[in-house]
Amino acid sequence: MKIYLVTGGCGFIGSNFVRQELAKGNRVVNLDILSYAANQNNLADIANDKNYIFVHGDICDQKRVSELLHTYNVDALINFAAESHVDNSITGPEIFITTNILGTYRLLAAAMDYLHYKKQKHDFRFLHVSTDEVYGDLPLNTADRFTEETPYHPSSPYSASKAASDHLVHAWNRTYGLPTIITNCSNNYGPYQYHEKLIPHMIKCALHGKDLPVYGRGENVRDWIYVGDHCRGIALALEQGTIGETYCLGGNSERRNIDIVKTICTTLDNLRPKADGTSYASQINFVTDRLGHDLRYAIDDTKARTELGYMTDIVFEERFKQTVQWYLDHPQWLKSDAPALFKQAVSVTETV
Ligand code: NAD
Repeated sequence: MKIYLVTGGCGFIGSNFVRQELAKGNRVVNLDILSYAANQNNLADIANDKNYIFVHGDICDQKRVSELLHTYNVDALINFAAESHVDNSITGPEIFITTNILGTYRLLAAAMDYLHYKKQKHDFRFLHVSTDEVYGDLPLNTADRFTEETPYHPSSPYSASKAASDHLVHAWNRTYGLPTIITNCSNNYGPYQYHEKLIPHMIKCALHGKDLPVYGRGENVRDWIYVGDHCRGIALALEQGTIGETYCLGGNSERRNIDIVKTICTTLDNLRPKADGTSYASQINFVTDRLGHDLRYAIDDTKARTELGYMTDIVFEERFKQTVQWYLDHPQWLKSDAPALFKQAVSVTETV
C-alpha cells in the first residue's frame, strides 16, 4: 500500500484521482483549501473509507504540508491544487500567482525538508500535474503537436503561472535532486467538473433555456481527454516514470469548440428533448472572443505511450455522451450553491 499526499483532491481531476487510488488499496491524504471550485461531495462516496483522510488547508502553508508528509510517512506528493480557470486569471490574476507559483514553491520546500529527514525514502516522488497550455498555441489546420521538447510560450496569466510552477519543479530536481515528475495534459472532460468550465457550463445554460455563449466563431481547437484516462496516465508516470522527466498526456481527440457545443446540443436533443421540439443549438450565441485566446492545442503523447505504456481506451463520442448523461443524472453539480450542501457529508479530519 502506498501513501499519497494529494493536493486539490476536492476538485475535478483530483477527486477522480483520489477515487482511483483508493480503489487500488492505496491510502490518500487530501489537502484542499476548499476554494469555490472545490466540492466535497465529489468524494462523498469514499468519505468514510478508512484509507481516506481529508485535511482542510492551504498548499502555501509550508509548515502544515511538512507536518503531513512526516505524520503520514508519505510515499508521494501529487500536486493538483491550483487556480485553474483561464477567464478568472484574466480578470483577477493575483491569486493565480499566489496559489500556482508560491504554492508550488512551498510544496517543493516542504518536500525538501521531508527528504532531508527521511533519508531512507529513496522512492519518494513529487508529481506535479500541469497543462499543455504552458506551450502556448499551435496554428489551426496543421499537423503540429506539442511534445515534451516544445518550448514554453504561455499566453494567459493562468498558463504563465503554471509554466512558472513547472520551471520551479524542474529547477528543484536539477539543483537539489528532488525526485520530481511533471505531467502536461490537454483539456479534460468527465464527471465532477465545476460548472464554470465549457462542457458543464454549456449543459447548464442549455437546460436553463439560456444562450450558449461561444467565444469568437468557436474555431479554437482543443485536444479532449477523458478525466479517467488522465488519472491513469498520472499513476503510470508516478509508478514508472523516470525522475526529472516530463510526460505529455493527450486524448487524441481534437475538436473545435463550436463542434463540442453542437455535440452537446445534439446529445441533449436526444437525451432531454425540449418541450417545443426545437434543438438546443438554437441557443448558440457567438460572443466577443477571450483576450489572448489560444487557437489550438494538440498533444503528441508518443513518449508516454512508449515509456509508460499509456493509452486512452475509450472512443471520444461514447465517453462524451456518458459525460452529458452524468450531468443530467447529477444536476446538483450544475448549481452554484452546491458545495454548501455537502459540508456535512464528509467528516473533516484536522489531523495535525
Ligand atoms: P479544479 O479547479 O477543479 O480544482 C482545483 C482544486 O484545488 C480545488 O479543489 C481547490 O479547492 C484546490 N485548491 C485551490 N487552491 C488551493 C490551495 N491554495 N491549497 C489547497 N488546495 C487548493 O482544477 P482541475 O480542473 O481539477 O485541475 C487540477 C490540476 O490539473 C490543476 O493543476 C490544473 O492546472 C491541471 N490541469 C487541468 C486540466 C483541465 O482540463 N481541467 C488540464 C490539464 C491540467
